[in-house]
Amino acid sequence: MNTQILALDIAGTPFGWIIPQEAVRYYAAGKVAWDLGEREIVFRGGHSRSGAQSRIAVKPIIAVAGSEIMARKLRVELPLGDQNDLLFRRDRHTCAYCGEKFPRRKLSRDHILARVRGGRDTWMNCVTSCRACNQKKGHKLVHDFRPLVYLPYVPCRNEHFLLSGRNVLADQHDYLAASLPRHSRLLD
Ligand SMILES: [Zn+2]
Repeated sequence: MNTQILALDIAGTPFGWIIPQEAVRYYAAGKVAWDLGEREIVFRGGHSRSGAQSRIAVKPIIAVAGSEIMARKLRVELPLGDQNDLLFRRDRHTCAYCGEKFPRRKLSRDHILARVRGGRDTWMNCVTSCRACNQKKGHKLVHDFRPLVYLPYVPCRNEHFLLSGRNVLADQHDYLAASLPRHSRLLD
């Protein structure tokens, strides 16, 4: 259904979440160097002359040969952009000013240096804030308001994939979580 496949380069660096059909194409082209994971999604194709039906089993994690260039290109930066969900998940749905946890609808993006003062939509300039705190802070500078209860940080590549994945399977989670830095808030 909504299963996504975690695509890696042959060195194991993630370069994308792809749909299973795209993974099938890599398998069919003989480009899957190795794969990982318990669960598999089986796709059946046409029948050969002998009557056998072709079958491709897609694993949750695949390493695609010839994908190094793609991975290298992406390694440089994984921008936050306007994706609030990534930010809220990085900050565990916790307001950076009052320290309380809130449901998604009560959260907003706070620019540490307000946009009217030139603040940008970057991982380091943005934190999760409850709507009440965000309103109170307005365009004030942090030191004129309240100290931050936690600091922003730029998620590493694996964290970014954990944050951006939908319906992440246990195998995929374990693979990505295995190399998170200690400061990651995604570690429990
Ligand atoms: Zn708050």
